[in-house]
Amino acid sequence: MGRVALVTGGTRGIGAAVSKALKGAGYNVAASYAGNDDAAQAFKKETKIPVFKWDVGDATACEQGIVSVENEVGPIEVLVNNAGISRDAMLQKMSHDQWEQVMRTDLDSVFNMTRPVINNMRERGFGRIINISSINGQKGQLGLTNYCAAKAGMIGFTRALALESARKGITVNAIAPGYVNTELLANVSEDVMKAIVGQIPVGRLGEADEVARCVLFLAADEAAWITGSTLNIHGGQHMD
Ligand code: NDP
Repeated sequence: MGRVALVTGGTRGIGAAVSKALKGAGYNVAASYAGNDDAAQAFKKETKIPVFKWDVGDATACEQGIVSVENEVGPIEVLVNNAGISRDAMLQKMSHDQWEQVMRTDLDSVFNMTRPVINNMRERGFGRIINISSINGQKGQLGLTNYCAAKAGMIGFTRALALESARKGITVNAIAPGYVNTELLANVSEDVMKAIVGQIPVGRLGEADEVARCVLFLAADEAAWITGSTLNIHGGQHMD
């Protein structure tokens, strides 16, 4: 039996590619989503991966959702905190609601999801926690104070939990993708998209499958000595 992996936001975009890649590598995968039932059902039909609906910004819903996943699929050994949203505005125009939605979904979710699985991982002496951050949490981006703060926060969380977990067989790492061709970028205008691609030395957006390869790499049993890291994948856009 393969290890059990849960991918939040695992039914669309990067998460769907991660779910499929993990399944292809022999993991028993569960994918969560927020509310797009059509996309989730189509994904389930295509992949036969079970899907679970709850809001990762809601701590109680996460606890209950994890119980459902563990009852149906088994104790979670690999957790991919991938679900995320953006609500862009310059700070002088940003509403409190835009701030809060992004902080809840992109950062609170990492606590909400990881807290209920960490004790079990510690007791079992094995775990892989992989947090999907962003290039923008590293370099900053105008119009994204909420998103950049949340994604930078994920990296701090990753490093602190890596220290706490190092002796327990649990690795905690982040992946910081640059711009990847998914629906998250659907609202970006053609002009802005051209400018973004112009800043990517490789000369194109990333593909979700390319991020999924990074997750597979970090999830492997053989990746036991990689912890507290942030793996950058961005076509050369930002080197720090
Ligand atoms: P998509 O918008 O394509 O997919 C987002 C997924 O997350 C969907 O499955 C969605 O569920 C789920 N989701 C959103 N909000 C919640 C919530 N509150 N509770 C549970 N699930 C939720 O996004 P991407 O695939 O583009 O992005 C995935 C991650 O990668 C995000 O964290 C994003 O910030 C990060 N990232 C993306 C980049 C990009 O260029 N695309 C670049 C760098 C980082 P539903 O289908 O129900 O809406």
